Amino acid sequence: MKNEQSHETTKKFGMVINLDLCTGCGSCMVACMAENNVPFKPDETDKLKSITWMRVYRLTNGKSFPETDICYLPRPCQHCEGHGGHSPCVSVCPATATDYDSQTGIVSQIYTRCFGCRYCMAACPYHARYFNWFDPVWPDGMEKYLNPNVSPRMRGVVEKCSFCYHRYQAAKDRAYVEGQREIEEGDYQTACTQACPAGAITFGDLNNPEHAVYKLKQDANAFRLLERLGTNPKVYYISSKEWVRRAADNYLPNEKTGK
Ligand code: SF4
Ligand code: SF4
Repeated sequence: MKNEQSHETTKKFGMVINLDLCTGCGSCMVACMAENNVPFKPDETDKLKSITWMRVYRLTNGKSFPETDICYLPRPCQHCEGHGGHSPCVSVCPATATDYDSQTGIVSQIYTRCFGCRYCMAACPYHARYFNWFDPVWPDGMEKYLNPNVSPRMRGVVEKCSFCYHRYQAAKDRAYVEGQREIEEGDYQTACTQACPAGAITFGDLNNPEHAVYKLKQDANAFRLLERLGTNPKVYYISSKEWVRRAADNYLPNEKTGK
């Protein structure tokens, strides 16, 4: 049974992604792959077999010129809290290979426990999980450039964005060595946040009023993806365009948004 009471008093790491700033450049995707040793194939045209922990989607308003409009939407794992830590993927995993960490709000993936049933992939409404159909193959010499802090995954297991959890562990270690202090906002940042040239991604503790995300998530134009499903994600988006907010929340045509 999850400990529901502790959630408000502990950290809750999350992101606010400003879609008005995102240019769709894909730097966040590249940084994520490099940081987390995400495998790729020589032919990436079959997107069903591609692995992209962070994926930038292009949305359009469906109108023709001159009313046409587009928006880019970066989508990492939303680190859903559900109710009391019962994220959709966590609830269905028969191997406890994915779990909700009530100390950080991060949904983990433990590769050595995963036996590849892919229930979690079916349960995730954000398509944020990926199955390794092959063992990773790196171009000659590239294994020297892999991140030693992240284990590469083998064929037959599911993987997904971890909010660069290894960086959290490193930040905690540094803080401990420096006198057991609390980690600060700048101590722990995800690779995509740091790589975004537009400053569209802000990362921090959603529970901490001193972190930028705390205020940003209260922006009048802030919303979460498919919010009505009750997944309670920790990734917020901001868009000044109503059609984007409606599209991201899957409202039906002619349905009132309630705002
Ligand atoms: S986005 Fe998908 S994989 Fe991530 S926590 Fe939610 S249900 Fe799980
Ligand atoms: S790096 Fe920033 S601007 Fe580029 S696609 Fe990702 S979020 Fe958008």
